[in-house]
Amino acid sequence: MNLVASQLDPKDAIYRAVIPAGDPWIHEITKGQFFRIVDLKGNQAADTLFYSAHDYRDRYSAQDTIREQRNIYLTTGTRLISAGGTVLLTIVADTCGRHDTLGGACATESNMVRYAIEKRHMHACRQSFAKAALEWGRGLSKRDITSNINFFMNVPVTPEGKLTFEDGISEPGKYVELRAETDVLAIISNCPQLNNPCNAYDPTPVEVLIWDVGDR
Ligand SMILES: [Zn+2]
Repeated sequence: MNLVASQLDPKDAIYRAVIPAGDPWIHEITKGQFFRIVDLKGNQAADTLFYSAHDYRDRYSAQDTIREQRNIYLTTGTRLISAGGTVLLTIVADTCGRHDTLGGACATESNMVRYAIEKRHMHACRQSFAKAALEWGRGLSKRDITSNINFFMNVPVTPEGKLTFEDGISEPGKYVELRAETDVLAIISNCPQLNNPCNAYDPTPVEVLIWDVGDR
């Protein structure tokens, strides 16, 4: 964990939006801009994908990011690396302390396998990603939905190597802030999952903010 607070004031942000519980969001972030995601009510997973804004095939890679920093958790200092080796963004502030990139995004298929066959019709993150990608257009499609980050989600790995979905460690108002190292496209699925504790069984809104602070 590397807890670092940001010096940026929400009043100075050039963009602010609240993503309602269960909804998708898609937006470009320009090189040098600062991007913050706020867990407004606490214990809410924000499933996130990042792409180079100039080449959607060059996208966030969990494997490359983990290997480069030799740690499975994301926090302040983590450089988010693409499959092509591009540093897309750097986490510059983090008041939660740990974010997951192993658990993947929930899907109707995994809900059926993990929980029950009748969970099939429940809304899931992969549908939100697909909706945002298709509405965005510009060649982005379902096949571009690959490895994601679960901001604010607590997926500890046991000494035996087991993955467990645990109660969140985030609280109301906790945030993570990233500096774009190149022009990126971000897609967030504000996770609608109701079957595990990643949202405390009660999905809630998150807020996104962008600052344009020159070459600070
Ligand atoms: Zn989800």
